[in-house]
Amino acid sequence: MQLSTNYIMPINIKKNHSLKELTTFGIGGPALFFVEACTIEEMQEAILFSKKENLPYFILGKGSNLLFDDRGFFGMVIANRIQFINKENGCWHVGAGYSFSLLGTQSARQGWSGLEFASGIPGSVGGAVYMNAGANGKEASESLVSVDFIDHEGNLMTLSKADLQFGYRFSSFQEKKGAIVGAAFKLIEDKEARNKQFEIIEYRKKTQPYNAKSAGCVFRNPSCGHAGALIEKSGLKGEKIGGAEVSTLHANFLINAENATSHDIINLIEHVRTQVKEKTGIDLIHEVRVIPYHGEI
Ligand SMILES: Cc1cc2nc3c(=O)[nH]c(=O)nc-3n(C[C@H](O)[C@H](O)[C@H](O)COP(=O)(O)OP(=O)(O)OC[C@H]3O[C@@H](n4cnc5c(N)ncnc54)[C@H](O)[C@@H]3O)c2cc1C
Repeated sequence: MQLSTNYIMPINIKKNHSLKELTTFGIGGPALFFVEACTIEEMQEAILFSKKENLPYFILGKGSNLLFDDRGFFGMVIANRIQFINKENGCWHVGAGYSFSLLGTQSARQGWSGLEFASGIPGSVGGAVYMNAGANGKEASESLVSVDFIDHEGNLMTLSKADLQFGYRFSSFQEKKGAIVGAAFKLIEDKEARNKQFEIIEYRKKTQPYNAKSAGCVFRNPSCGHAGALIEKSGLKGEKIGGAEVSTLHANFLINAENATSHDIINLIEHVRTQVKEKTGIDLIHEVRVIPYHGEI
């Protein structure tokens, strides 16, 4: 596919850029076109450019909750790298490309409570809002005040939490085209925040295959319990397909143990789902976003 020749781009678009290193699974072929948006203006430019060229586009955070196809992505991958941070009276306004884990650690260590649970979640702030990431009984939406968003037409707007819907690993952004470029969180002063954050990260390191290539928990927890416990009960810990493996430490983590392909992971997801259904009668739904080669605009 060729781009229009008469369009001068201030942003640096790369062609056939490998996606593998940009995801925590370490899986994926090349993006036909790839650009990093480091400012709000660059994000607007990248979205409008993709539209003008009729290119499907995909907004990438830190790639910690997705599986790209081995063939890559036939379109434009726009990596969000907007990283400002402003603090005022307990309101933390951060760029969507800022590390969610760092935000959780920094705020707690400075004595602010509300995002301690984010410590160790390896996503961006934009990805955490989009997924309504959560842990330890807390979710990103709880302390969220507003979100800065660029819509499909390139318009920048600030949406207050009341304008949005959130649920278990759900936000209304999953039904909108565009990019989250910033978010504001209201945190509360609490001397215990630092200790809570420390306990959370220590527990994570003990209970999760933290250094393995994974996308965290693959399946959503059903209403009746934990997906990990059901997978373990079904005897699937350590199960392998190709280079993909069910973690022996935490059964809801599928890991790229040895040069796994996207098909290995998808086949293992299906295998786990079928086995758990047969053995427990419960249908698991996957939380990880599987991105097809031919993505939609
Ligand atoms: C070791 C490990 C532990 C984890 N633990 C947890 C946990 O405890 N709790 C939890 O909830 N998750 C957890 N995760 C999953 C993951 O880190 C979160 O879902 C995270 O919020 C994803 O953010 P990201 O920036 O990596 O998003 P990506 O994986 O890059 O993208 C995920 C989705 O969000 C969209 N998106 C990302 N950024 C934007 C944006 N700026 N604008 C619009 N759309 C956007 C993408 O298009 C995609 O559809 C874990 C993952 C790993 C690898």
